[in-house]
Amino acid sequence: MFSGPVDAARRPYPGRVPGAVLDLVIRYRKGRTYGLYALLAALEVEPPSVPYEVHLARSAAEVAGTVAGSVGCGRRALTVWSFLSPDAPAMERELREVRAATSTGEVTHLAGGVHASTEPWGVLRAGWDAVVVGEGERAFASIVEAVGTGSGWRGLPGTAYLDGEGALVKGPPAERLPLDRFPSFPSTRNLTSPIEITRGCVYACRFCGTPFLFSARFRHRGIASVREHVRVLRHRGLRDVRFITPTSLSYGSSGSEPDLAAVEELLATCVEGIGPDGRVFFGSFPSELRPEHVTPEAMRLLARYVANREVIIGAQSGSDAVLASSGRGHDVPAVREAVRAAVAAGFRPSVDVIFGMPGESPDDAMASIALVEHLISLGARIHAHTFLPLPGTPWRNEPAGRVPDAARRALATLTASGDVYGSWERQERIAAGLAAVRTPTSGHRPGRPRAPRRHRP
Ligand code: SF4
Repeated sequence: MFSGPVDAARRPYPGRVPGAVLDLVIRYRKGRTYGLYALLAALEVEPPSVPYEVHLARSAAEVAGTVAGSVGCGRRALTVWSFLSPDAPAMERELREVRAATSTGEVTHLAGGVHASTEPWGVLRAGWDAVVVGEGERAFASIVEAVGTGSGWRGLPGTAYLDGEGALVKGPPAERLPLDRFPSFPSTRNLTSPIEITRGCVYACRFCGTPFLFSARFRHRGIASVREHVRVLRHRGLRDVRFITPTSLSYGSSGSEPDLAAVEELLATCVEGIGPDGRVFFGSFPSELRPEHVTPEAMRLLARYVANREVIIGAQSGSDAVLASSGRGHDVPAVREAVRAAVAAGFRPSVDVIFGMPGESPDDAMASIALVEHLISLGARIHAHTFLPLPGTPWRNEPAGRVPDAARRALATLTASGDVYGSWERQERIAAGLAAVRTPTSGHRPGRPRAPRRHRP
């Protein structure tokens, strides 16, 4: 499963891979690497037929410099960008800088990730040539092959572009492949990320894009593939194993009931593979636990295998009415029971709560504050958020989240005492920014997009 070309990742200018005809110039940003590493891994599984060189560019100037070097060598260049909705304006400014500095040569600018998938028209209008919509691995490999060989990339599955009149044109939808098809990170570069063990989600929380981007069913990575990832981590001298999953205790399950036998097999495999000096983190960042899954039995299981003593539990609201309208699929008592079970097993729960969700009244917000205070008294700390009307979610057109005044004062007090943390104030500004630039149907720029159409060769 793991194989690939020479590592040229840290070299800013082309020239290290002899005979390369294509430079992949990846806009590399710390904290936004997991998806990009998965794409590099996909190229190892489905490599292009032409030699290529990879560059991780840490600024717009580095993207522009690398592209200029590539063009100067007579090569083709493909720049690659992945960003979330709040980052979109900054990335648009960077792309304008890059375009202004590199006006000649065969250069294609490609965007992917959650924002580009959900707002392809707006992203293309902002200046990218192509967008990968949905699952990126195979679409990315296909685009690299097409750009590298000079064949047409328009109309490839999982991609979109604008026609001459500014209308969105999409290729066929990207195929949703088994997770084992591609590794989570490349083998030949010293680039590592948590192991993605589950993709898609059977739940349908209305503020979340996961089930709508990756489908409303789970696809799990098989144990053999997980074992191989752990072997590579250990081979690199790493000793920590972490996971990417929408809901940790859903591993191995096809529905809403956890499969604890599958979870135990996963954890036992990882503990054995990483060795006695290694550590396995589960139910902690960057993944979380649903409250109704946090039972005494499940927590005893985790306590036997995992190194983390903090677990992240998604509560989201202290109002049953808001939980119901957001489609969470659990109630407030489930949250209290989860925190008790986690604390009894020796964990410190960190509980996510979102303020300002659509339809939340000041009384609902104060119900969340009451829940927060109760959970703190049980031994939890609270990660407070403000609702973001994210593109690609059913609530994308709802008002920006705002924390009501009384709840705001309570949060400030609890933050000062160290029991509450999080960027809920900054998220209020981000939410307002998202709401200010969206359009009713698509795109994050003023103006209405034309109706999308399918690519016809
Ligand atoms: S918030 Fe979590 S449980 Fe809900 S749909 Fe998103 S990933 Fe699934």
